[in-house]
Amino acid sequence: MPPTRVRAIILKRINFRETSVIVNLLTDSIGKIHGIMKGVRNPEKKIPPLAYQQGSCIEAFVYLKPRSGLELVTKPEVIEIFNFKGEASVLWRRLLFQLDRFIPAARFNSKEIYDLLVQTGFVISKTKDYRVVELIITQRILLHLGFGPFLEKCLVCGAKENLYFFSGKLGGAVCAKCHQTEITSFRLPSRHIQALRFFSKIPIAQIQMVKYISEGLYKNLKKCLDEIIEYHLMA
Ligand SMILES: [Zn+2]
Repeated sequence: MPPTRVRAIILKRINFRETSVIVNLLTDSIGKIHGIMKGVRNPEKKIPPLAYQQGSCIEAFVYLKPRSGLELVTKPEVIEIFNFKGEASVLWRRLLFQLDRFIPAARFNSKEIYDLLVQTGFVISKTKDYRVVELIITQRILLHLGFGPFLEKCLVCGAKENLYFFSGKLGGAVCAKCHQTEITSFRLPSRHIQALRFFSKIPIAQIQMVKYISEGLYKNLKKCLDEIIEYHLMA
């Protein structure tokens, strides 16, 4: 079979033997690839290290295997350099790590999640408050994967009023009446639920419009997202 040309972000990379690397790639079309780039660290080949570094956005060829296993990835070329420093680098690596952990190596239509990650790379360099990017992107990833947060109605009874409790186990809002029977739910100010709704709709390219969030809001929303992750993705 001829190789497939892809664009991809390198979620994870480890050195393998003398000159090769093993990579997990989130591609723009065929899902997540667990692959090997042979000989790329051989200095004679003159391949720039950014072409196989974690976080780089590359173009490459993948020789897809009929069965699971390491796929051969060749001719990596950098198309975007997301090579951050300091706090931005910590955030970028954490998001890559999360995605690598949440998404199994499998074929699926990955265009949307790939675009989200590329946009995130651009937005990180413009942002002032990294906590905002962390919250909004983590929320968007969870929504994309189908884990919520679902905020339009109570996930126990369907009511649309008094939604100021949240359950990570259920993946969203719980009303004041149902919270007593749903022991995993905890209270949130309703304006924090509103903020979470707002964050789920804001275009990624406009994240920097949100200049600042309070420590209280950050803590609460982070707790909501962390509990979804803990209940649904850490098992
Ligand atoms: Zn309810």
